[in-house]
Amino acid sequence: MPQVSRIEQQCIDKGMKMTAQRRVIARVLSDASDHPDVEQVYQRSSTIDPRISIATVYRTVRLFEEAEILKRHDFGDGRSRYEEITDEHHDHLIDIQTGRVIEFQNTEIEALQEKMAAQFGFQLIGHKLELYGVALNPKKSKS
Ligand SMILES: [Zn+2]
Repeated sequence: MPQVSRIEQQCIDKGMKMTAQRRVIARVLSDASDHPDVEQVYQRSSTIDPRISIATVYRTVRLFEEAEILKRHDFGDGRSRYEEITDEHHDHLIDIQTGRVIEFQNTEIEALQEKMAAQFGFQLIGHKLELYGVALNPKKSKS
């Protein structure tokens, strides 16, 4: 793994000390697009370096979250899931049967939310939208 992952670069930019294990965890999180929980990050990390413990993953993920590199989500099933913070806004649709998370952007929803806020005399500065669903046709719902 010669290249520096995006999250590792952010850690470096923030002056964080990077151990070999932190670098592995940073890479796993940079490569993930599925909003993994700690257990999943641990499984992927320990494939790369079997010496990594789940306690280390917990600590590191928390450290990254405190440094505002990672965003923590609670999608309603009680397990915290993580994704890299980016400038690009998106909302989430969660399949409550499989836990799969679909990211989406919709300009109509965005505009409607601004309109809604304006109706109450507010300028919208942010929002969080999570849709929960069950697949109508599990075979067809794969993205
Ligand atoms: Zn996301």
